[in-house]
Amino acid sequence: MATTNTTTIHYTTTGSVRGECGHWHRSLRGAIRCIERDQKGCRGQGGYSDRCVARISGQAGEAIRIEPLTDEERDAADEIRLAIQNGEMR
Ligand SMILES: [Zn+2]
Repeated sequence: MATTNTTTIHYTTTGSVRGECGHWHRSLRGAIRCIERDQKGCRGQGGYSDRCVARISGQAGEAIRIEPLTDEERDAADEIRLAIQNGEMR
């Protein structure tokens, strides 16, 4: 198998109550939309989702790490969330 140093970053969502969504989102936006879907589902049952976005570094099938977002990613995530709230992004 060819080895490269490129690490692919994916995003997932995780919370101590709700656990992980199990997806490998290719974008922050995808992960944020996943949380919103989860929150809607939880609200429907009178609860809430404690999931937040985390990053996955590593390749499928290899040892992967789930890490908190970097400051930059957190800022980007805030912007995406605002844009979705304002209807500028779907
Ligand atoms: Zn997800």
